[in-house]
Amino acid sequence: MKRVPTLGRCPNCEGTITRDYVLIEYESRGQTARFAECPDCRDVVHPSAE
Ligand SMILES: [Zn+2]
Repeated sequence: MKRVPTLGRCPNCEGTITRDYVLIEYESRGQTARFAECPDCRDVVHPSAE
C-alpha cells in the first residue's frame, strides 16, 4: 500500500486534501501557508492541519 501524504482537511466538506491538490504555497509570518483545491467540493480552501 502506498501512503499518500495529506495536508489536512477541507473546512467546508471535511474531505481529505493531499499534496496533489495544492495550488499555491507561500510564507506568511514565518509559516508556510497553502491554498488547495478540494477534490470533493472543488472549492479553493486553506486545508486545516491534522
Ligand atoms: Zn471540500
